[in-house]
Amino acid sequence: MKAVVKPGPVKGAEWRDVDIPTIGPNDLLVKVQAAAICGTDNHIYEWTPWAQERVTPPMIFGHEYAGEVVEVGSAVAGWQVGDLVAAETHIPCLQCYQCRTGRQHTCEQMRIIGVHVDGAFSEYAALPVACAWKLPSGTSPELGAILEPIGVAANGLFKDRIDGASVAIIGCGPIGIFGAQLAVAAGARQLFATDINAYRRDMARRIVPEATVLNPLEDDVEAIVAEATEGRGVDVAIELSGSQPGTEQAFNILAKGGRVSLVGLPSRPITLEMTGAIIYREAVVYGSTGRLMWDTWYQVDALLKAGAFDPTPVITHRFPMSAFDEALELTRGGNAGKVILTP
Ligand SMILES: [Zn+2]
Ligand SMILES: [Zn+2]
Repeated sequence: MKAVVKPGPVKGAEWRDVDIPTIGPNDLLVKVQAAAICGTDNHIYEWTPWAQERVTPPMIFGHEYAGEVVEVGSAVAGWQVGDLVAAETHIPCLQCYQCRTGRQHTCEQMRIIGVHVDGAFSEYAALPVACAWKLPSGTSPELGAILEPIGVAANGLFKDRIDGASVAIIGCGPIGIFGAQLAVAAGARQLFATDINAYRRDMARRIVPEATVLNPLEDDVEAIVAEATEGRGVDVAIELSGSQPGTEQAFNILAKGGRVSLVGLPSRPITLEMTGAIIYREAVVYGSTGRLMWDTWYQVDALLKAGAFDPTPVITHRFPMSAFDEALELTRGGNAGKVILTP
């Protein structure tokens, strides 16, 4: 089969012939029908320090995907050839304290598909059944491929109730847009979304018309939020930028007793004036990573089945998988929503 392979500890990747994976007793072999590009994939392609610490080449990367089951491991029950599947990317050990207490997504021996083991920018992929989410027949593979990042947004947002809340989304990349859509779907009464990138602000306005979309470099975000919330600030802020100004802003616009979910990954330490930002504010701060297995998937599935939101407009570009160079380049500029690769 063909696959996008990280050949060695250098920048770039190759479209190579490799063997179709052989599966273990607890795996499914999936014919990949759609794979989405994530920021992680660019770290691996660019061979950033983040990737150097985690990835051992040669390796196939890519982890947000959906496809059709073409072979079922001998110990697997409940799956059949022909089933449609979407991948959860955390591979839990199922034995450790975290796994045994309902926190598989923070497993002590966590491995990640497309980071620690071969991923899905390929024609076929081996998927541990512990990471398999069954899709109703007829589900579009593109929708299946973006459930993983939708879940990242849902996990950050649904740490506590959203109905009736005023919500700020800091960062309007795909996860931010999904978060804004989910906030509306879950009954938020007010929604603000900020980004420094014009393409992303336009995407937010187009896809989530309920949101007040702001440019933190030009708009006085704190004043606008204060005005709209009778001086209180927002009840919930979701920080997706991973930046110093974005993180400060998340707290500066937060109501007393409000909550912040920190989702975006900073590339360097963040400084906060904690007395005002957190302590006097009695802010509740959540770290949020990945998705709850499988609570988040059921939440998103229920909202999709109810027709409460449609995430597919966030998919803005499609490429054949062999054009991965061009596709990854496009996403690095930030001037794209979700980009889908098709083998
Ligand atoms: Zn991802
Ligand atoms: Zn574990």
